[in-house]
Amino acid sequence: MFLIIAGPCSVESYEQMLQVGQAVKEYGGNILRGGAFKPRTNPKSFQGLGLEGLKILRRVGDEIGLPVVTEVMDTRDVSLIYDYTDYFQIGARNMYNYSLLKEIGKQDKPILLKRGLSATIEEWLFAAEYIKQSGNDKIILVERGIRTFEKYTRNTLDLSAVLAVKELSDYKVIVDPSHGTGRRSMVIQMALASKVIADGIMIEVHPKPESALSDKEQQINIEEFKVLMNLLKKVPNIKDIV
Ligand code: PEP
Ligand code: MN
Repeated sequence: MFLIIAGPCSVESYEQMLQVGQAVKEYGGNILRGGAFKPRTNPKSFQGLGLEGLKILRRVGDEIGLPVVTEVMDTRDVSLIYDYTDYFQIGARNMYNYSLLKEIGKQDKPILLKRGLSATIEEWLFAAEYIKQSGNDKIILVERGIRTFEKYTRNTLDLSAVLAVKELSDYKVIVDPSHGTGRRSMVIQMALASKVIADGIMIEVHPKPESALSDKEQQINIEEFKVLMNLLKKVPNIKDIV
C-alpha cells in the first residue's frame, strides 16, 4: 500500500481540521496529520495550540475514522501526546535529540522519523537505530529535504536518499514534498515523482493556505489535494512494475 498522510501544518481550529479531515478521508488518505506543538524558527511565530490542538486532532480523527499523527518535541510531552495520537512524529529539528529518541523508543506506537535539516543518510539511520534499541521498531523514515546552498526552494528534496535508505536497510521511507520544496506550486509534481520510488507521502493541506498560521507558502488547498489524489492513481509504484 502507498501510504498517504495529509493534513494541515498546524491544528488551528476544530472547523479547519474537520474540513481537511473530511477531504483526506473522502479522497483516500490514510492518516490525518496536524501539529499541536510546533517547532518554529522564530519564537514569536505561532507555537501551536498544545493540548487543545491534540484534543481537536483526536476528535476529528475519531469523527472521520482515520488514525492521526502529531509531532512530539519534548520528552516531557510524550505521555500527554501518547493519550491523543496514533503515530508520533519526530521532526527534522529533533532528529539529533537522542534523549527524545530513546524516550519515544519506549512507546508502543509507530514513529515517523524525519530526516534532520542537514543529516547524512548514515546519521538518519543511526537516529532510527536509537529508537529501535530502546524497543520500538515500528519506524517510518520521512525524507523532507535537506539544507543545501540553493535558496530558491526551502530545502532540496533528496529523492535519491529514499533509494539509498532502501539499499541500506529495511525501513519504509515516505516523502514530504511540502517541507521538501516549501513551494505550493511544486508539491503535486514532487508527490507524483515520489510515488514511483517511495512507500508513501506526507502532504500539508489547508482549507485556506494563504491565511494559515504556519507554512502558508507550501500548503496546498483541498481542491489541489483532490487533483493530486486523482493523479496519483495514474502513477505506478516501483513495486508494481518490477
Ligand atoms: C512539520 O511536519 O510540520 C514539520 C515541522 O516538519 P519538519 O520537522 O520536517 O520541518
Ligand atoms: Mn509544516
